[in-house]
Amino acid sequence: MFKSIFARFFTVYFVTTTLILLLLTTLISETLRSNDMNEKMSELKSVVADINLAFEQDSYSITGEAAYYDIIKEAAEKNDAVIWLSDTSMNIRTIVDGSGNITITNTPMNSELASIAQQVGQGNTISAVSTLENVFGTSVILVAAPLIIENKYAGAIFMYSELRELDKSLSAVFSQIFNCVLFSLAISIFVAFIFSRYFSRDIRKITTSANRLSGGDFSTRVYIKSQTEIGNLADTFNNMAGELERQEKLKTTFVADVSHELRTPMTSIQGFVQGIIDGAISKDDQETYLKTVLSEIKRLNSLIADLLEMSRLDSPELKLNIEHFDINELLRRSIINFEQAIESKKINVEIGFGDKPNMVLADPDKIAQVATNIIDNAVKFTPKGGKISINVKRSADKTNVIISDTGIGIPENELPFIFERFYKVDKARAEYKGTGLGLAIVKRIIEQHGEKISVDSKEGKGTKFTFTLPNKTTNKNVFASH
Ligand code: ATP
Ligand code: MG
Repeated sequence: MFKSIFARFFTVYFVTTTLILLLLTTLISETLRSNDMNEKMSELKSVVADINLAFEQDSYSITGEAAYYDIIKEAAEKNDAVIWLSDTSMNIRTIVDGSGNITITNTPMNSELASIAQQVGQGNTISAVSTLENVFGTSVILVAAPLIIENKYAGAIFMYSELRELDKSLSAVFSQIFNCVLFSLAISIFVAFIFSRYFSRDIRKITTSANRLSGGDFSTRVYIKSQTEIGNLADTFNNMAGELERQEKLKTTFVADVSHELRTPMTSIQGFVQGIIDGAISKDDQETYLKTVLSEIKRLNSLIADLLEMSRLDSPELKLNIEHFDINELLRRSIINFEQAIESKKINVEIGFGDKPNMVLADPDKIAQVATNIIDNAVKFTPKGGKISINVKRSADKTNVIISDTGIGIPENELPFIFERFYKVDKARAEYKGTGLGLAIVKRIIEQHGEKISVDSKEGKGTKFTFTLPNKTTNKNVFASH
């Protein structure tokens, strides 16, 4: 029963609300009761005073005339109280009940009452809630005062109201409070119930989607409009599901792309080798075809090397060997590796930095790979007689490396995708060999360094890549050691 958090929440809420309301009811009742008791007591006191005042006006005998009875009868009836009058010898002489019935008697007081009468005899007025079991048989509000007739102490006057009577009149008020409490309890429980249902419905939605996700359905999403923590949780869940879906798609397309890239050279290798074995390719042509096979195998090798590099860069264990090094020197060495291609295409290379070292803080091997991949593209996509410029610009904490060419450029709508794996602009342009992994590796490396790379290109005019590197720290000792 208490498995769901909302059943627990609901129970706790129910118990707490009930307790608070009960406490409140008791408190209100007690306050009302004690107010009523005080009121009744002062009422009785003033009636007793009034009776004494009335007796002062005229001389009455304690068992005397009718007028005397009228005064106490009226007082008893009006206040729904009982009045006893005693003489000075501790005897009860007159009793008037709440309905105004008068009994004339001569009953000696018992010791309990006599002790009160004694105090009264000394001139005290006593008012108390009293339970004199042997006298009244129940709890009463009692006022006892001296009875003064003709300015003389003539005995005691006891006036009392049963507490039961007071409670009777209060019980109507209590029942009204109780009804209100029940009503408000019912309303708050109803509201709590609706809210609980509402929240548990949202949580159930998230659980259902999480189950679908764990079952492999990455398209699942949770729709919760609320701006509460549950709404935030749903948003976070959706972001997570979105990212998982993206990763899953990447994985699928990656496998498809890799298979495709592998199949093309494999097919041609198989065809040529088969042709040689079958004798379909003449002995004279064999060397040419074997050279093609060799170049295809080389291409496969470099593809596999690139794939390995990609997976290494993705691995969480990847550690960069961060060092201080001269980026100018690294760029110079990188461009020398392309000397042959540059010369054969008669490309003019413009180096925009001098001999002075420009120290940066990065992994030199990885940055060499970045430079190589970008220069490789520049050389590959720049026609004969074109120009490649390499510039290094240093600001306070960053060094910008800018590699631009006057090559075929990249159409504007393709620019956002060129850093994606296997992405090649216009796959039909078969003369440009490549797998589309070069820039993906570049981007990964730059991001691993926490730096940025951007591209700027105009179709037919040329392309410019800019990436940033952190400058060497100002520690002079380290600087001197290089
Ligand atoms: P790989 O580098 O893996 O051998 P690739 O050069 O085709 O193959 P990337 O280096 O990732 O792949 O480049 C992606 C695509 O971006 C290229 O195919 C090309 O269409 C375009 N591109 C990149 N650099 C340039 C450039 N300097 N000029 C024109 N197009 C470029
Ligand atoms: Mg490339």
